[in-house]
Amino acid sequence: MAQFQKDIRKIGIFTSGGDAPGMNAAIRAVVRIATSRNLETVGILSGYIGLIEGLFRPLQTRDMGNIIQRGGTILKTGRSADFLKADVRQQAVENLKRAGIDALVCIGGDGSFRGAHTLWTEHQVPVVGIPGTIDNDIFGTDRTIGFDTAVNTALGAIDKIRDTADSHDRVFIVEVMGRNSGFIASWVGLAGGAEEIFTPDANTTVDKAVDRIREAQKRGKKSSIIIAAEGQKPGRAYDLADAIRKKTGLDAKVCILGHQQRGGSPTANDRILASRMGAAAVDALLKGHCDVMVGTDRDQLTLVSLEQATSQEKKTPLDYIQLANWLAT
Ligand code: ADP
Repeated sequence: MAQFQKDIRKIGIFTSGGDAPGMNAAIRAVVRIATSRNLETVGILSGYIGLIEGLFRPLQTRDMGNIIQRGGTILKTGRSADFLKADVRQQAVENLKRAGIDALVCIGGDGSFRGAHTLWTEHQVPVVGIPGTIDNDIFGTDRTIGFDTAVNTALGAIDKIRDTADSHDRVFIVEVMGRNSGFIASWVGLAGGAEEIFTPDANTTVDKAVDRIREAQKRGKKSSIIIAAEGQKPGRAYDLADAIRKKTGLDAKVCILGHQQRGGSPTANDRILASRMGAAAVDALLKGHCDVMVGTDRDQLTLVSLEQATSQEKKTPLDYIQLANWLAT
């Protein structure tokens, strides 16, 4: 694990990439724990954009009031293609030096961590990452901040859709977020009693899904919920619905849950995870650790190198999909 030697007095904190519910709870924990350890904190606005443009604002404990329950991020977030350029990163580092910021806490996903890793390897800026993404697709941590809330939001929607599916004897294909990761889909599918779950890495096929729907009908089951992970391109639920309609003649409807899964008040689980990770990130920096991400392993806090967290793939729990299939009888 990388170590740095200098004393730190001022920490910069930013949120980057896709927003996730619980990011505010993490910011609050970082600021309040840092202040209690006699460190100053500075908020960097809009992710790497704020680093490049010097959009800094001092944060005090009182600024953190009334945000633990709010989704999104009070620091705003953003994506910056410019940050991929070495000369632009150099400019960002000069801004940090000018503001007297000694170390950074980056809350984001794997893309954000790649940027953070570069800041350490190129410029020896000590950075600790906190995994904040609804996708739960970061290697080295059981959970990411925002995942639990997104799963529960999707589940609430599916419970409502189920009423209509049942009343009309319909097949519903519900598309959930998660990019290439099948975590949201597999959790929501198991918790929502789905008939079938499509994820980029599960070997579910339309033919298998059709067979299962037909078998279910023979058993007297008239409605089905199918969960599809969005994959690289949202909207693939429409292709699935077309295929099912053609093969079965059934009225297959589509519901794409979309961005509502990213918003809303964080669940207790996400607030607790964010609070613990925020505190651990400050303590890691005070111990001289950097170029690491705070993670959890069986509910214990851990530190994982950013290199490892960004280079290895976290696999979808296929056993959840298998169990959902067995239970949907
Ligand atoms: P997430 O953190 O949610 O995965 P992105 O993949 O969009 O989100 O990454 C967020 C930002 O991190 C990018 O817009 C870019 O500024 C920065 N970033 C991503 N990859 C790199 C990289 N290899 N080097 C430097 N910065 C990067």
